Amino acid sequence: MRTVRLQTYSNEFEAQLAKSLLDDAGINCFLSNQNFSSLHPNYAFMLGSGIGLYVDDQDADEASAIIKNSRSANEQGELVCQACGSRNIVFKYKNITFGKWILLLLSLLFFIPFGNLTKDRICKDCGETL
Ligand SMILES: [Zn+2]
Repeated sequence: MRTVRLQTYSNEFEAQLAKSLLDDAGINCFLSNQNFSSLHPNYAFMLGSGIGLYVDDQDADEASAIIKNSRSANEQGELVCQACGSRNIVFKYKNITFGKWILLLLSLLFFIPFGNLTKDRICKDCGETL
């Protein structure tokens, strides 16, 4: 019996949510690297960091199917723009301001990870950020 890293999460909330789904299904699993990832969220996904969700390799297929099903249930028509009611929502980077470009350049210069560029849900019809 071997454990495999099923998923890597950037925040503890998503990781705990996935773990609770697997716990409910009776699949043994555990999280690792929670403390470091919570203290240094900007280092998520660098050098193997990020909160890892581990399961037995025998349960990996079933566990990934459970997580995938929960995601698709969440994403089915749940995203509605509150301003115009449109369902035409996309994930993309918001306008990157001049200040953020400066931060990006500084972080590249001093080898500091830049976690300040995140994708947002944006309504394609009215431009509202959800
Ligand atoms: Zn809208």
